[in-house]
Amino acid sequence: MFDDLKGKRVLITGSTQGIGLAAVEAFARAGAKVAMNGRRVPADLEATLARLNGLGGEVVFLQADVSDSAACGTLVEAFVERFGGIDVLINNAGGLVARKPLPEIDDAFFDAVTDLNSRSALMVTKHALPHLKAAAAQNGTTSSVISVGSVAGYTGGGPGAGLYGAAKAWLHNIQKNWVAFHTKDGIRFNMVSPGTFDTAFHADKDEDTKARIGSGFPMGRFGRPEECAPTFLFFASHACSGYITGQVLDVNGGQYMP
Ligand code: NAD
Repeated sequence: MFDDLKGKRVLITGSTQGIGLAAVEAFARAGAKVAMNGRRVPADLEATLARLNGLGGEVVFLQADVSDSAACGTLVEAFVERFGGIDVLINNAGGLVARKPLPEIDDAFFDAVTDLNSRSALMVTKHALPHLKAAAAQNGTTSSVISVGSVAGYTGGGPGAGLYGAAKAWLHNIQKNWVAFHTKDGIRFNMVSPGTFDTAFHADKDEDTKARIGSGFPMGRFGRPEECAPTFLFFASHACSGYITGQVLDVNGGQYMP
């Protein structure tokens, strides 16, 4: 179904675990050339790469803290040096940083949340843009930027997650500008907006709490990372979504219906 992803060069930020890692696995199975990125080198890197490289594609690890603008440029350069160009960028790195209600928010916390969730996607996309444009011109189809939003981008976020929700809403919004001004470059921009997925993101909750929260969703449970991965394949594949751009696909078990 995703035959055109074979050999595609895919950079996925923040992908050593959770939703990002499941996306790395899905693209590897589709035969793509993938860079897994993380702030730190994972302890089990060698074994993880050996496993991922047995799936049918090619996977490398590129270390970079994408909340740092200079590191975003270096990451893109390293990727292009390794694979010769970029066909698909997935801006997945993100997180709460911490939960802080309004009275506790200071400049340092504001910077940390917006750098990780907004600036990272902006800067990696900026540096990747000429390469995505070149790839589209070369193969005569489209390149794809997929950013990871959140249900919090609509709802405003849960307790202490107001800045996080706002940073995701910022992403939902700025994508519209990128569509308006870079479609002529042969690049499509879409967003995957997860609801509540069982990853380290919810490490502050025990299993009973997760089950209780999940039972309130129409689907009755949290999502699993591998249930989000196919949406990335869909938006990356020109054959599947070549005329789709500027959209937000909500993968949330019915938790929120915008
Ligand atoms: P996770 O914490 O399991 O994974 C986050 C990944 O980002 C990790 O691989 C981590 O190494 C990486 N990362 C963190 N800071 C980084 C940095 N500065 N530079 C590079 N990499 C960095 O979380 P997840 O649930 O898999 O989240 C993935 C994306 O999905 C995030 O953007 C998150 O905001 C979004 N999201 C998650 C949920 C959920 O319920 N899990 C809901 C909505 C949106």
